[in-house]
Parts: sequence; structure tokens; C-alpha cells
Amino acid sequence: MSNLYHEDIYKFDKPVKSYWETTCNTNNNYNKLEKNIQTNIVVIGGGYTGISCALSLAKNFNEDVVLIEAGHIGWGSSARNAGFCCIYPAKMSVATMFKKFGKEETKKFFKNTIEGSYFTKNLIDEYKINCDLTGDSNYEVAPHPSYFESIKEESLIYKKEFGIETKVYSKEEFNEIGHTGEEQFGALSYKPGFAINPLKFLLGLAEEAKKSGVQIYQKSKVTKIEKKLEKFNVIANDHIITSNKIVMATNGFYKDDLFPDLNNTILPVISNIIITRPLTNEEVKSHNFVTYNPILNFRNLLFYYRLLKDNRFLFGARGDLIGSEQSSKIKSKKMEEQMKKVFPNWKNVEIDFHWRGLVAVTTKFAPSIGKLDDEIYYSFGYQANGVNTAPWSGNELAKLIVSNSKKLNISKLYQGLPKKFPFPFLRLLYLRIALLYYSFIDK
Ligand SMILES: Cc1cc2nc3c(=O)[nH]c(=O)nc-3n(C[C@H](O)[C@H](O)[C@H](O)COP(=O)(O)OP(=O)(O)OC[C@H]3O[C@@H](n4cnc5c(N)ncnc54)[C@H](O)[C@@H]3O)c2cc1C
Repeated sequence: MSNLYHEDIYKFDKPVKSYWETTCNTNNNYNKLEKNIQTNIVVIGGGYTGISCALSLAKNFNEDVVLIEAGHIGWGSSARNAGFCCIYPAKMSVATMFKKFGKEETKKFFKNTIEGSYFTKNLIDEYKINCDLTGDSNYEVAPHPSYFESIKEESLIYKKEFGIETKVYSKEEFNEIGHTGEEQFGALSYKPGFAINPLKFLLGLAEEAKKSGVQIYQKSKVTKIEKKLEKFNVIANDHIITSNKIVMATNGFYKDDLFPDLNNTILPVISNIIITRPLTNEEVKSHNFVTYNPILNFRNLLFYYRLLKDNRFLFGARGDLIGSEQSSKIKSKKMEEQMKKVFPNWKNVEIDFHWRGLVAVTTKFAPSIGKLDDEIYYSFGYQANGVNTAPWSGNELAKLIVSNSKKLNISKLYQGLPKKFPFPFLRLLYLRIALLYYSFIDK
């Protein structure tokens, strides 16, 4: 199939120059697939979903597992996201969820997403992964006085319906405990919530998977899968892995090329990050930026930001619609302007890093975990909420693979495939229309 985006974004052999790459040693000794092998389960994709699933299969269920990754281990979105562990992995309001799925199912969904945050935190603690964890809650900031009421409402619903610990701050209060600047008209906080260095977390998890017996192959893109006599032949680098089961953990980088049932179920959306040089103490003080908690601006076309340990400032937003290196540069410049509008005292601060990656949006607007008719399992579509959701989902998928049951005991919102996009070649047009609509509302 032809790509939705420019080929630049799919250069699996080219490391992405993110800030995270400068914070740890990314040299590793994982092999390329250079011989034919046999296993019980092949996991395709070496992000949080794939690695967590493989780790759980090997460690908790003593399964024979091979994990195969197109780039190097540390290439995908799990290695280059903003590191916000926040809720919730769906692009719809609580009111819509209540209406569509009922109260009980929605409550279960929130119970599961909170479990997701604790699951990520527990992995970090259990395996002592040093991934620069900061913060003890998440903030959502009202970008305009008219949003403050919605923030108060959200806080109330979180508390009353789902038992989540929340707190509301007026603009003046948030000036003291968060930051000053434009587009800050009060905020809410909720727990649990924190931020991590996503690459360090991923590499730590991969090491644990390896220690538990997962055979990891990198720089080996799966190009074809054939079924022969109840076995799968998974082909990469002209070699074959023969297996009984397959796990698809390719999320936004799936190119509609391996399984007809999965094709055209994902709208990959570019997410973009810029990072400043380290701010001086005076610059930090000039906006009274006193928190290391992750912060989300409550717009429809939201942006998110946080202060890093070395006083660099991370600012993220939706990316462009083209996907080339050039379009990414242009988008990053626009984001710089946007950031400096919100934090005008930093107008002379240089940007040291910019990069992007793909997140997966689906027609379901919620994650999809499940099994196709064959022994093919999938988990994707976290609606840009993978730090919370992908490790937990990988673990749930492992339980599904080893059980005889076809269902997991998790909220229905997570289960089953989304509908395919109608006229899938128009996916970017749908996105363009949605973006125009939201930017109109935001104005
Ligand atoms: C810029 C950016 C910022 C983000 N910020 C946040 C955030 O702050 N908080 C949050 O919760 N989420 C965030 N996200 C989303 C989050 O990163 C993802 O939801 C999560 O990483 C998905 O994990 P995954 O393992 O499913 O997919 P990925 O980490 O993308 O892994 C999929 C892997 O599959 C591999 N693959 C694809 N095709 C093949 C093939 N044919 N053969 C072999 N391998 C293949 C890819 O190379 C890739 O490494 C962000 C994403 C981006 C891009």
C-alpha cells in the first residue's frame, strides 16, 4: 500500500535525534535476524506494548518468545514520547462514554486506566529502572477563563464517579504552585500522575525481557507473514521465524501491509516535541515555574509541557500532516512561536531539539486489545496515551494469549477491533477537517 505520510517518517534504519538519545547509552548488543528460527510466539514491535507482552509471557508464563523490531530497540514512539503518565486513553468525553457504554462499563474503564498508571510505576519500581521519574500528579490547565468551569466539572466527575483524588486551583493559586504566563486561568490536579524519561524506561524494560529469556532481534522489519500447516512463517531480512502465535504490537507504525483484518483500522497522527536549552534559574523564576509535574493545556487541540530535571523545557503538540523532515522543521518553528506566546519571558530562549513520531487514533476512539480468528493477537490505538496504557495492555494481552478464554476481564472499551476507516485513502483529509473544526472551537 502507499504510505499516508512521507517516507522520511518510516526510516526504521535512521535513529531519531531526540533529546532522550543524549541522556543514555543506546548502543546495545541485540542481534539482527540472520538465520531461520522456531518459537512458540513472535511479538512484532519493540515498544512498550511488545516488550511488556513478551516480558510477561516469558517471565510469568514461561513461554518461548521472540520479539522482532524494525528499527533498533529504542526507535519507536515508546522511545521518543514526552513521558507523561496520564489518563485516559480515549478521545471522547465521560458523558459520551456513559451514553455509549453505560456507567458500569465506564467506571471499569477508569478503574483499568488507573491500574495502567500503577502498572507502569510498579514496573519501574520492581525492576529498579532509573528513568528520571518526576512529579506526583498531573495538571490540566484552563487556557481561557471559559474553560475553568469545565475543569471544575471534570474534577467533580473524577472524584464522584471514579474515586480519583483531584484538586482545583484558581489562576492565582496555580501561579504559586504551577506557573504564571498566558493561557493559564486555573487548573486541576489528579493522582496518580508522573513523568519519566521514556527511552530509559523502554531500554530498562527490554533488558528485563532479555534476562527473562525473550530472544530480541532488532533492525529486522517483518515484510511478510505466511500460514503453512497451522504454523506462521514470519519473514524479515530474508529469514524465517516459524511460530504458532503472533502478537501485533506495531501501533502507529503499522503500514496496512501484514493482515487484511488490521489494515485501515488506524489513523496514524504525528505528534511533535520541541525542547529548549537549559533555562537559567532567573528564566525559570520569571514564570515562577515551580513544578515538575506534567501539564496539559485543556484546549481541544491540546498542547502539553513540563520542566525537565536539567531545566530544559519540553513542549509538545500535534504535528504536521505531511511527515517529511522539512515539514517537521516548519511545524517545530510554529510550535516555538506558540510556546513563546504562552511563556513570553522566554522569547529569546533557543530550541535545542525537535522531533516527532506517530500515535494511533482509531474510529473507536479507545484502545483495541484482542485476538483475530487465527492465533493472531493485537493491541493498539491508545489515542496518544501509551505511557499509561501500552505496558498494561501488553500484560493483559499476555494473559489472553495463555488463557483458553477469548475474553479478558477488562472494560469493554478496550476490547475488540475498531471499524475500518471508510475510504481509507481519505484518512488525512478526515484529520484535516477535524483539526480545522477544533481550531475554530479553540479560537
Ligand atoms: C512525539 C510523541 C509524544 C508522545 N507523548 C506521550 C506522552 O507524553 N504520554 C503518553 O502516554 N503517550 C505519549 N505518546 C504516545 C506513546 O508514545 C505511544 O502510545 C506508545 O509508545 C505506543 O507504544 P507501542 O509499543 O504500542 O508502539 P511503538 O512504541 O510505536 O512501537 C511500535 C514498534 O513497532 C515497530 N514496527 C512497525 N512495523 C514493524 C514491522 N513490520 N516489523 C517489525 N517492527 C515493526 C516500530 O518500529 C516500533 O518500534 C507520544 C507519542 C509521540 C510520537
